[in-house]
Amino acid sequence: MKLDQKNSLSLKLLRVVLLSALAVGVVLSCAQIVFDVYKTRQAVANDAQRILGMFRDPSTQAVYSLDREMGMQVIEGLFQHESVRFAAIGHPSEPMLAERSRDLLDLPTRVLTDRILGKEKSFTTQLVGRGPYSEYYGDLTITLDTAPYGEDFVASSVIIFVSGVLRALAMGLVLYLVYHLMLTKPLSKIIEHLTNINPDRPSEHKLPMLKGHEKNELGLWINTANQLLASIERNSYLRREAEDSLLRMSQYDFLTGLPNRQQLQQQLGQIIEDAGRLQRRVAVLCVGLDDFKGINEQFSYQLGDQLLLALADRLRSHSGRLGALARLGGDQFALVQANIEQPYEAAELAQSILDDLEVPFGLDLQEVRLRATIGITLFPEDGDSAEKLLQKAEQTMTLAKSRSRNRYQFYIASVDSEMRRRRELEKDLRDALGRGELHVVYQPQVDYRDHHVSGAEALLRWQHPQHGLVPPDLFIPLAEQNGSIIAIGEWVLDQACKQLRDWHDLGFTELRMAVNLSTVQLHHTELPRVVSNLMQVYRLPPRSLELEVTETGLMEDISTAAQHLLSLRRSGALIAIDDFGTGYSSLSYLKSLPLDKIKIDKGFVQDVLEDEDDATIVRAIIQLARSLGMQVIAEGVETVEQEAYIIAEGCNEGQGYLYSKPLPARELTVFLKQARRLTSVASNPATF
Ligand code: C2E
Ligand code: MG
Ligand code: MG
Repeated sequence: MKLDQKNSLSLKLLRVVLLSALAVGVVLSCAQIVFDVYKTRQAVANDAQRILGMFRDPSTQAVYSLDREMGMQVIEGLFQHESVRFAAIGHPSEPMLAERSRDLLDLPTRVLTDRILGKEKSFTTQLVGRGPYSEYYGDLTITLDTAPYGEDFVASSVIIFVSGVLRALAMGLVLYLVYHLMLTKPLSKIIEHLTNINPDRPSEHKLPMLKGHEKNELGLWINTANQLLASIERNSYLRREAEDSLLRMSQYDFLTGLPNRQQLQQQLGQIIEDAGRLQRRVAVLCVGLDDFKGINEQFSYQLGDQLLLALADRLRSHSGRLGALARLGGDQFALVQANIEQPYEAAELAQSILDDLEVPFGLDLQEVRLRATIGITLFPEDGDSAEKLLQKAEQTMTLAKSRSRNRYQFYIASVDSEMRRRRELEKDLRDALGRGELHVVYQPQVDYRDHHVSGAEALLRWQHPQHGLVPPDLFIPLAEQNGSIIAIGEWVLDQACKQLRDWHDLGFTELRMAVNLSTVQLHHTELPRVVSNLMQVYRLPPRSLELEVTETGLMEDISTAAQHLLSLRRSGALIAIDDFGTGYSSLSYLKSLPLDKIKIDKGFVQDVLEDEDDATIVRAIIQLARSLGMQVIAEGVETVEQEAYIIAEGCNEGQGYLYSKPLPARELTVFLKQARRLTSVASNPATF
């Protein structure tokens, strides 16, 4: 900011000082002049007394001797004085002995001085004889013209006034100079330094100390200002640091230090823009860990964090091929492959990440295996914005996870509509139970010792008002997601137990009921209580209720699962492991868990005659179950050939379309009655 000269402090001061000095000068001069007026009046009177004194004796002589001539001589003598205008000697009661007058002096100053001093002044002295005869003879009177005194008075007044004013002005100037040198000039210097200060680094240039001002107010001001600048700089440094860390927190993931979703979206936006210009492809890979929740529960959250860190490092090792890498939150990461030519490049990257994860993570002397599912979207095919590409990649990953895990999946347009349909279904599912849209069907299980129906598996059905029958493979994962599986699962258990009671009452007292348990149910603390309650309410004999759990469900939290299985067993339930062979199939957990039965997955049974591998697996499972003292049941038995094979291998039971599709309770009752008749005929041909 530039200083306008007319506003300068020194000029203002000059004005103020000069004006006040002038005023003081004028006032003092006026006082002096007033005093001079008094002194001039005094001088007139003194002069008159002196003249009267000088001429008193000759005048007395003249009046005593009535010598008119002598009187005139005295008068002449008096008129030698310039200021004497009139003089008279004589007795007041007689004509004057001698008198004379002359005109007032014509001086230019009288206009002024007559007003102050009067035109003239008369003085009289008595003429008295000397010695013992001091007789009064008359008076000597003189009148003095004041003009000559006035002239002197005016001359001296002018001098007094001019010199007084000049003195005051000189004082004012000196004061101004002193002020300018001691205050205004140093202040201007400080201002000049202040304007050079960099607002971002205020203490970079310190204000220099002015020579001679170290200890006065200016020096103090400079020191204080320097301290202030330093603390401003310190504060702004702290603020900048806080802002930086806030920015980092808002853009980076706290645990892994990788960019977060927000930052990724920005980076991806830029990558897409560049790729659009260069007409290249971009792949967005969304990596979601399979069962990370289970790992967290099985080990600890600290270990879970360490695992995520180690995983982030492994992902970083691919950074040579990556345009961006970020943690989307939880167990989800995103990788962006910029400028690729063909989609297979993304597939290669996805596969190499999956392969990379195959190598177990060694943490705290424990080996942990991670598996992941990857959803992939491509620019420009699947979307033109960062948000869309990311969202679709995440959807694809979620969907791929719900089908089978540990693989990668490219986005396909149907994913979108399927996601929408799933959301709608999920909403409808919340009310399905209340609206009576759910029912249970039963599929018989056949004991191969004598081919009698030994049990039935309860299978849930959802009759959707618009979509018709919704397969359980689709809606059960949705019910698990929104938590409604707990209520639904309890309802199925209740239905199945009630139905079993009915069948027992109808005489099928050996019949067993198998009910599927979802992972969520298995981990629900209430489950053992619910089961034992139902068994009591429906008076079900021990080992008549069989609960089917899946391998993945068990693995998520093996210790809780083991506890729950034990208490379920104490209530009298049997435990079967469903879909065996499709999950981890780890021998160690089979041994450590309280299990009664293995169900061979229908996938193996169906191809057992065509596929040598499947045949080997089926044989191995049966061997394993036997060696562990467990029962084996094959599901999905559709042909007599399949049946023959598994029976030959030593399978205990079978379930499948060969015997019956899942049926409503009433139809299965008919089936059971028929089967009973047939078995009794077969075992007792005489009745035939
Ligand atoms: P799962 O427990 O393995 O049930 C066997 C599935 O195989 C049933 O499918 C059954 O209809 C089907 N199946 C039986 N025999 C044959 C055959 O010979 N050939 C073929 N191709 N399939 C056969 P469904 O009823 O569609 O159930 C699918 C899955 O849904 C079940 O698999 C089970 O995991 C789940 N599920 C069904 N009901 C419930 C339930 O009440 N609770 C829970 N948590 N899950 C259930
Ligand atoms: Mg089952
Ligand atoms: Mg199964």
